[in-house]
Amino acid sequence: MADYDYDLFVIGAGSGGVRAARLTALDGKRVAVAEEFRVGGTCVIRGCVPKKFMVMASEVSHALQIAEGYGWSFDKAEFDWPRFLEAKDVEIARLSGIYAANLGKAGVELVHGRAILKDAHTVQIVGKDRTVTAEKILIATGGRPWKPEDLPGIEHAITSEEAFHLPELPKRILIAGGGYIAVEFAGIFAGLGVETTLIYRGPNILRGFDDDVRAHLAGEIEKRGIKVILGCQHQSIEKTETGLVNHLENGMKLETDVVMFATGRIPYVKDLGLETAGVALNDQGAITVDPYSKTTADNIWAIGDVTDRMNLTPVAIREAVAFHQTVYRDNPQHFDYEAVATAVFSQPPVGVVGLTEAEARRSCAKGVDVYVTRFRPMKYAFTGSDERVLMKLVVDADSQRVVGVHIVGPDSPEMIQLAAIAVKAGLTKAQWDATCAVHPTMAEELVTLKEKQSPATSAG
Ligand SMILES: Cc1cc2nc3c(=O)[nH]c(=O)nc-3n(C[C@H](O)[C@H](O)[C@H](O)COP(=O)(O)OP(=O)(O)OC[C@H]3O[C@@H](n4cnc5c(N)ncnc54)[C@H](O)[C@@H]3O)c2cc1C
Repeated sequence: MADYDYDLFVIGAGSGGVRAARLTALDGKRVAVAEEFRVGGTCVIRGCVPKKFMVMASEVSHALQIAEGYGWSFDKAEFDWPRFLEAKDVEIARLSGIYAANLGKAGVELVHGRAILKDAHTVQIVGKDRTVTAEKILIATGGRPWKPEDLPGIEHAITSEEAFHLPELPKRILIAGGGYIAVEFAGIFAGLGVETTLIYRGPNILRGFDDDVRAHLAGEIEKRGIKVILGCQHQSIEKTETGLVNHLENGMKLETDVVMFATGRIPYVKDLGLETAGVALNDQGAITVDPYSKTTADNIWAIGDVTDRMNLTPVAIREAVAFHQTVYRDNPQHFDYEAVATAVFSQPPVGVVGLTEAEARRSCAKGVDVYVTRFRPMKYAFTGSDERVLMKLVVDADSQRVVGVHIVGPDSPEMIQLAAIAVKAGLTKAQWDATCAVHPTMAEELVTLKEKQSPATSAG
């Protein structure tokens, strides 16, 4: 066998790469991981974690409104953007340090720099005059924000990457996009008092989610002051002395201080040298992998967002674990993408698991039973707020298994994690109902839904 510098070389120290590198090194293998930016990857540095801090910072304004309803009074509530950014960045640096330390403790060598493939066993560290060889290579380079580069004035628009470091909080922002990142940032900025417009070219936000969720959330975020413009997109962005003028397809001209494009993400494969190593891409530009994450090259695997299967941190981590079991433990495993719970940290947030009603109608041969409730949460009783919670259960009519749960409302991301256990376990509606309620909570509705929705009223 050829003598390589490493048993495994991982490209990218994000959610997937770090986990795979650590597990493999703990097995006594010689492992290195290259990182061109900061250890922790998108999730820790410019994704889930800083985003959640921003959501929590912005939710305070809503909490203050509720507090007033409960009899609290305040002099003047003020928000200090630079102070928040500093605190956030200290915490992000701390977390990144923990990731790096854990790599070291496991015996992984951390290589700072951009790694590119020279052939199927050779990796070059760009700008460092260093080339190493490895028996096996794992590509975990993640994704990058995409924006329409041919749109006139697009150079004035930021993406989520810059939104984490705006030098000052704008007075007005326009966010283009209808996916979860667009909706989350719209909630963040609106909560922080920024005049916020969300523009999306499709008929409704959150494509791919249950239609009731989409309609409900669009209404609720408008109640929080976000102006939502659907079925419309940019024609150009013009920089003027007073701001950025958004010229929209419908003839509207909207001036804002910041324009943010959250119009999707693409696998980060640019100039990685994939062809020289025999690693093929699929039609969507993601690395082609088999169910065990193996690429078209015999000794190269790929996990996480760069494969564009299900772009979530816990999924990248599970793919890493499956890779390690398959390749180093002689225990072939692939991740099961069914019933993966997910949350949108909009305001109010969304938690979903399993099939949408439309998907269930397509896949359940004998149809579906749908249970829906909409109500005002007890928390808002004294506030005059007309915000409402949506809860929806989708049940396979034949087996009576609950195949989909969809919640829009406070704490839904926390609720859905637990509901996902029941959905993954394939429990029936009767088993859900046999579970005694916790009172008074919102979640108790999930085990007390009695009325089936008639098909005519169902949005699907
Ligand atoms: C704004 C935002 C919010 C998100 N919120 C959530 C959420 O709430 N929940 C959730 O589950 N997911 C969320 N995600 C998605 C989540 O961050 C990703 O699914 C996850 O980070 C993917 O992990 P990964 O290991 O595939 O790649 P990444 O975490 O992106 O890591 C890839 C790493 O590789 C490095 N790299 C790339 N190319 C090279 C190279 N050639 N050489 C050296 N290093 C390289 C990069 O610098 C990066 O550090 C969010 C994403 C974004 C952008």
